[in-house]
Amino acid sequence: MKNKRVYVNEIKKGPVFLQGWVHELRDLAKVKFILLRDVSGIIQCVVKDKKLFKDFSKLTLESVVAVKGKVNAAKIKSPEVTRKEIEIEITNIDIINKAEQLPILVVEKDKTIKTDLSKRLDYRSLDIRKQKVKAIFYIQSEIVHTFREFFKKNKFVEIQTPCIIASASEGGTALFPVQYFEKKAFLAQSPQLYKQLAAISFEKVTCVVPVWRAEKHNTVRHLNESRQMDMEMAFADDFDVMKYLEACIQFMISEVNKNCKKELELLSLKLKIPKAKYLSYDETIKLLQKNKSKTKQGEDLAPEDEKILYKLYPDTIIFVHSWPNKLKPFYIWPKDKKVSAGFDALYGGIEISSGGQRVHVPEILIKRLKEQRLNPANFKHYIDSFRFGAPYHSGWSIGLERFTMALLGLDNIREGCLFPRDRERLTP
Ligand code: ATP
Ligand code: MG
Repeated sequence: MKNKRVYVNEIKKGPVFLQGWVHELRDLAKVKFILLRDVSGIIQCVVKDKKLFKDFSKLTLESVVAVKGKVNAAKIKSPEVTRKEIEIEITNIDIINKAEQLPILVVEKDKTIKTDLSKRLDYRSLDIRKQKVKAIFYIQSEIVHTFREFFKKNKFVEIQTPCIIASASEGGTALFPVQYFEKKAFLAQSPQLYKQLAAISFEKVTCVVPVWRAEKHNTVRHLNESRQMDMEMAFADDFDVMKYLEACIQFMISEVNKNCKKELELLSLKLKIPKAKYLSYDETIKLLQKNKSKTKQGEDLAPEDEKILYKLYPDTIIFVHSWPNKLKPFYIWPKDKKVSAGFDALYGGIEISSGGQRVHVPEILIKRLKEQRLNPANFKHYIDSFRFGAPYHSGWSIGLERFTMALLGLDNIREGCLFPRDRERLTP
């Protein structure tokens, strides 16, 4: 009969059958120890029976094993062990898959041997076995889940937008070309135009989609493939949707606090529910200049500016609204000749989201496209969609990896991406 597997965190009394990875090995003369790790935790297993010493000697770090044993009371001190009150006295060991010499360590004991990020990413499948690295992705999973939950509660419909597009959805950013049968197509840099087309029919839409940007820069805050969490809403202006963004972020963080206690502890993090601060672009520039920034009116915020604002307003979602028209994409609604209904949201010292009210009037859209030196002919289909009764509408987009980075204070966005794609990296 097949043995019934028990997870480490579910062990009550013996005998037990466990399956997992060899997390650590300790070889003392008369007794041997294995720290066994599975999805639920880590437990100490002891080998006292001399007949098993030969099997023990074959074990290597990260080998996959199945062990049978008795449950004994214990008082374990090792911090990584999650079941400190018991240990398993092994009666049988089977090696399911023996691990070869590890290219990077999963357990970095000595704080000084920290494998550099690039090597860690080369061996990412091993890297993501580390408890702290896993914690990031459990939290990210909670973020995506609660994002969807928030919009479901608010009666939005989740839509799926195309990832192959015929022309740019925004000026400025470079696109990855794709051969689409006889035609040249591109990977989508944003679901922007499609979620607008959906919003003028469904009113309230949301989506979580991958996007590709062929930007050649190599920074700690950009990837060439990332994920966006978006919303778009009809009969709403920029301030209406900023309120949604504020509430959504607060909800996501409170759910992470509630459901990811273990992960936050592993990362030594305590998250506060952020307040919101609303500043116009003009107010922001004046405030920055008072605080020694060199940024002038009419210029985009520099990463240093985002840091200054963060120092002034920690634990805050900072909404910078009413940007100049020329600094925002063509589809952002111009409130007047100078000021647009576009905004950015900053959190943790970095931009996590951009949004705004959109242009729903074809003639204004054509004018805006021309102002940004884009050819309206390339957007005919999109422009024409607004000719049959399109309400005014607004929306925003949060970068998933960017938000993960900001929330957890990661030094590099790649830490918040399972298998990052950047200027140099296409594998694994
Ligand atoms: P940035 O100014 O930070 O380069 P952006 O203004 O060009 O970003 P948006 O078009 O506003 O980017 O995209 C919406 C959100 O997606 C951003 O606020 C950010 O959170 C995220 N994002 C944008 N570009 C990238 C990228 N290259 N890699 C990862 N996330 C990104
Ligand atoms: Mg932006």
